[in-house]
Amino acid sequence: MIPIIIPVFGPEEQAAAAQTIASGWVVQGPQVQAFEQALAQAVQADHAVVVSSATAGLHLALQVAGVSRGDDVLVPSLSFIATTNAVWMVGANPVFVDVAPDCPNITAETLAAAWTTGTRAVIAVHQLGLPLQRAAIAALCSERGAVLIDDAACAIGSLHQGEPVGKGAELAVFSFHPRKVITTGEGGAITTTRADWAQRLRLLRQHGMTVAPAERHQTGATEVYAEPGWNYRMTDLQAAVGVEQLKKLTAIVDRRRHLAQRYDELLSDVWDVAPLAPRADDVWNAQTYCLCVAPDGRDAGPALDTSARRNRVLAFLHARQIGARRGILAAHLEPAWRNHPRGALPCSEAWAAQSLALPLHHYLTDEEQRYVVETLREALNQGR
Ligand SMILES: *Cc1c(COP(=O)(O)O)cnc(C)c1O
Repeated sequence: MIPIIIPVFGPEEQAAAAQTIASGWVVQGPQVQAFEQALAQAVQADHAVVVSSATAGLHLALQVAGVSRGDDVLVPSLSFIATTNAVWMVGANPVFVDVAPDCPNITAETLAAAWTTGTRAVIAVHQLGLPLQRAAIAALCSERGAVLIDDAACAIGSLHQGEPVGKGAELAVFSFHPRKVITTGEGGAITTTRADWAQRLRLLRQHGMTVAPAERHQTGATEVYAEPGWNYRMTDLQAAVGVEQLKKLTAIVDRRRHLAQRYDELLSDVWDVAPLAPRADDVWNAQTYCLCVAPDGRDAGPALDTSARRNRVLAFLHARQIGARRGILAAHLEPAWRNHPRGALPCSEAWAAQSLALPLHHYLTDEEQRYVVETLREALNQGR
């Protein structure tokens, strides 16, 4: 099987984990602090707070943004389900925003069209690591008094107009799940420009406790529980791996970009699929190589199922040991959110029906890439 992704681990990560075990300190401690410093540097962020997952990060970001029960939070439906679920975690109401036809991100226009009087915050996703066209979105949010949270779960290592995604964001959230470009097993982070929010995020990730575990251990200081919170800590075992992964970020992104470009070339004469087209002034980390499969005549009829051909292609690739996946899901089409009130989301539905992700991992060979593309050609020609 050619898997969709493989973590890029070497002796460095193994040694870092082993040293942490040997130290006898495995919960949030010196490695978490080191990872936060390295991450702040990589993202050029003022503050970085690492947590147990990006989902936890989105939850805490909404919490410090002051979002609560009854508020509306604008989110793309077209995203991993955690973007919508985070809004539910604070008891607020997700309002679905459509994406662009030619890019799976929201725009200032689609955002304005979905705006409600109760809008308190916006979660804008840099989908598949593709940088958002953020300036107009940020301007709209500040003009209308909503907090903008960047869901940069997939976007570490991407640059927008020469700057790391997340730089300058009031709140940006990253993921280190193995499906992303660098990984700590599970893990996430929030970066912020605001010192007061960074401080509160540190409280909320550990039960509202005022003294960190490592400090308590060293000084014997008695902690105070300033407010209710969660246990969203990352372990030092994970953070030690994260420090090593960050050192490899540029090399991993370069490799992914090379492989994505190679797919682009191999697919240039395949007319029925449209790969993503990142903007020339952005650097895309190629977190997922996604393309849209156009429906064909066979599925035409009174109730055209626009996902039928994509699903046939997926099954065909799987039978040939190629670990392709559906591309991006739309929350409003999943049972969890199917009955949630919403407006029309035509572009999100088209992406959800037609998008498909091809395997793209660090160790993918030229031969494997050619095999994937030849098999894809065959899959598209089925029944012709
Ligand atoms: C992966 C992902 C998340 C969730 O990340 P976890 O670290 O697994 O919680 C959130 N939003 C987006 C857009 C993602 O792709």
